[in-house]
Amino acid sequence: MKTNSYVMSCPVGCAAPLETTAYALPEGPLRRCSGCGQLLSAVGEKRYWETMESFNAPDFNQPPAHEMERRRSVANRRLHTIARLLGKAPAASRLVDIGCSRGQFVGFAGEAGFQAEGVEPAPDIAAAARDLGLNVRSGLLEHRHYPDASFDAASLFEVVEHLREPLPLLKECRRILKPGGVLLISTGNAASWTVAAMGARWDYFHIEKDGGHISFFNPESMAVMAKNAGFQVERIETARVKFHEKGDVASVTYRLGKVAAELLNVPARLAGRGHDMLAYLRRA
Ligand SMILES: [Zn+2]
Repeated sequence: MKTNSYVMSCPVGCAAPLETTAYALPEGPLRRCSGCGQLLSAVGEKRYWETMESFNAPDFNQPPAHEMERRRSVANRRLHTIARLLGKAPAASRLVDIGCSRGQFVGFAGEAGFQAEGVEPAPDIAAAARDLGLNVRSGLLEHRHYPDASFDAASLFEVVEHLREPLPLLKECRRILKPGGVLLISTGNAASWTVAAMGARWDYFHIEKDGGHISFFNPESMAVMAKNAGFQVERIETARVKFHEKGDVASVTYRLGKVAAELLNVPARLAGRGHDMLAYLRRA
């Protein structure tokens, strides 16, 4: 095992040893926590921080209109579930999106009636969100020093897979949430049929393609992390499978794989084996 890897122990707090997997990546094979199954990148610290720079690029996260509409409908489903779990009107609920990028979810939540704000560490992107009129602060959540129990809901979309130590952030989320408050986390699912079929070819594992991805969850490791941070799992959903990345095979094979993956989207969701994972946690 490489000894200069940035991540050297299970991020969700297991004391169990790491074992080497057969998932070979340029920086070394992924390692697996023998306790919860979390997969970990072997990348070194310097390379990790270099790839994290991509999130502050001026053109980062500016999707075309049809993609914005897709994100709006995804966000509205999530906001509806949050409101149902909270059992009160959005207008009476204060929500913070942590790592909010250009503030798309903050905007959608505001349109749905929530008192919504965001926190974003990439300074130029946070400034771009403010230019759109959104209530977005620059920096890390722990530097905002929100009072205890400030929020009804918090969200971490595609954040936890970037963190060597996610537990301090989750504990800070717990502190700023009211009792019974909801924390929504999205990340990849390493226990998906996509990983079973593609292994290390899944782009999500590649720090060159997905900047800063170092820690790969599954429903079990998500539940362990939730428990260790003082949350209980309300529900974990997964969605979508794929068997090829765009451009990595002949087009006929690619199209066949795409058809097969589309046929398996519903069974994957029902079986909890899709590669997109969404966890609704409640502050215990
Ligand atoms: Zn573990």
